[in-house]
Amino acid sequence: MKILIVYAHPEPKSMNAAMFHEAVEALEAAGHEVKTTDLYAMRFNPVSGRHNFTTTLDPQFFKQQLEEVHATKQNGFVPELDAEQQKVEWCDLMIWQFPMWWFGVPAILKGWVDRVFAMGRIYGGGHIYETGVFNGKKALLSLTTGGKEADYLKNGFNGDLLSMLKPLHRGIFQFTGFSVLHPQVVYGPARMSLAERTEALAGWHSRLQEVFNETPIEVGTY
Ligand SMILES: Cc1cc2nc3c(=O)[nH]c(=O)nc-3n(C[C@H](O)[C@H](O)[C@H](O)COP(=O)(O)OP(=O)(O)OC[C@H]3O[C@@H](n4cnc5c(N)ncnc54)[C@H](O)[C@@H]3O)c2cc1C
Repeated sequence: MKILIVYAHPEPKSMNAAMFHEAVEALEAAGHEVKTTDLYAMRFNPVSGRHNFTTTLDPQFFKQQLEEVHATKQNGFVPELDAEQQKVEWCDLMIWQFPMWWFGVPAILKGWVDRVFAMGRIYGGGHIYETGVFNGKKALLSLTTGGKEADYLKNGFNGDLLSMLKPLHRGIFQFTGFSVLHPQVVYGPARMSLAERTEALAGWHSRLQEVFNETPIEVGTY
């Protein structure tokens, strides 16, 4: 199968980096084809604007979604975005590897979505949710937190993690047609011993060997 891993962490020696490399290794060892997007290494610009396009529909008033629909028809995305769109279109499974920042994704990853997931090409024209462009594909969030697991339970300090992830699971993945696999979460890796982190990496490795046999989760029923 074909897997795209989108990775967002600025430090190559971080736990997120280790999880990213573990995933590439595990999936390739299982015979899958892997492509990656390393956002910080690419110095991906997360700021959206007219520079997304080589085409212009309305030079007087910039309305991003209308420019996206126009660019879809005219092949008008800049090569940097077209390459990312092609990777998403190519994959059977998309994994995002990131540290939780402010109960969400780092801005560089949010900006990647803002620019790459374009109306006309990735959604719209009746193609959302069950009729989404990416129907039949799967998506999986793999993240780390600063907080402990107990902090992310329903009655925990921060509240329920799955509810926090709903904007990503429902608003991005399911909206564009992806089925959602259960997130992989390493809670507070900086508080763990080396042995615990090694075990967490091994658990991620072994999960990935069977990831295509997993049943998607029901988003929003928790
Ligand atoms: C802007 C910002 C916002 C934040 N918001 C939140 C929030 O909303 N909620 C929250 O819970 N937290 C939050 N945090 C904390 C953040 O989520 C955690 O710091 C982060 O998830 C930890 O992951 P890491 O990869 O950065 O860990 P690191 O600190 O990089 O890694 C932890 C340890 O793993 C070690 N390690 C690396 N590779 C390996 C390996 N191969 N084997 C074993 N050990 C290894 C590292 O050496 C390090 O000691 C925020 C942080 C920032 C900067």
